[in-house]
Amino acid sequence: MTLEGIHHVTAITGDAPGNLDFYARVLGLRLVKKTVNQDDPTVYHLFYADELGSPGADITFFEYPDARRGHAGAGMVHRVVWRVASEEALGFWERRLEGEGVESERERSGLRFADREGLGLELSVVETDDPPLVAGHPEIPSELALQGFDGARAYAADPESSRTFLEEALRFQPSGGARWEVRGDQRGSWYAYDPAPPEPGRGGAGTVHHVAWSSTLGDHETWRDRAAQAGARPTPVIDRFYFRSIYFREPSGVLFEIATMGPGFTSDEPLESLGERLSLPPDFEHLRERLEPELTPLPDLRSGSAA
Ligand code: ZN
Repeated sequence: MTLEGIHHVTAITGDAPGNLDFYARVLGLRLVKKTVNQDDPTVYHLFYADELGSPGADITFFEYPDARRGHAGAGMVHRVVWRVASEEALGFWERRLEGEGVESERERSGLRFADREGLGLELSVVETDDPPLVAGHPEIPSELALQGFDGARAYAADPESSRTFLEEALRFQPSGGARWEVRGDQRGSWYAYDPAPPEPGRGGAGTVHHVAWSSTLGDHETWRDRAAQAGARPTPVIDRFYFRSIYFREPSGVLFEIATMGPGFTSDEPLESLGERLSLPPDFEHLRERLEPELTPLPDLRSGSAA
């Protein structure tokens, strides 16, 4: 039993329209679900992913309108890394980002930049047998597109304090230094720590809220038991409607979720029109008339009209 890599990464935005523009139009991901924060249904929870809304390609944002900027510190993920297929793809993204006024820094086999609210991102050329998780976009050839997550980097004051928990409870495989491979039968990702900056982190716009790891439906409760036995304090299993979730902090303080690989985003709308309409889980549907006027209007990028 092993986790199947990253399921999703959830971050915070203070600017939902700007966030949609950056992740869907500029980066070319597909808005696969437009729903509300189940803990505060007056604000959005936006999900961007590949064409199918697959675990492994899904970056999601809680909207807190006009939230002040945060910054990552110890116990927070500070960079999200996506795969691309080739050096040619890095060149394409370097030019595309420059054209959008986004500064980037070319590394040997990577390209680092930040979103418009300061969230650290990186594209990395990776050779892998994992299927590419790609979204369709009229300006981005599919062979140059983002292919799903490769890994996530967090800041830790003492990475060794997490080692036993990661390796024994969660079965992360050490891959040298403060880095681990998280690979299941279908897919893998990695998780790594960098030395934390001296100043403490502060949650807010442009920071990661949590990183979720993929579990099969069948293994999910067992992961909860394993985390609890290793001293974490997992929440009960929460039905998020699109998947089931548990949450706990790992010893370095990063908020982890373990989420199931189903039922998925097509449980309440067809694949063709994912993300176009406001989706409300059944427990929230009765609030639709009250919520829709309160939510920030967002353009429909695929049809070009406001919705
Ligand atoms: Zn989550």
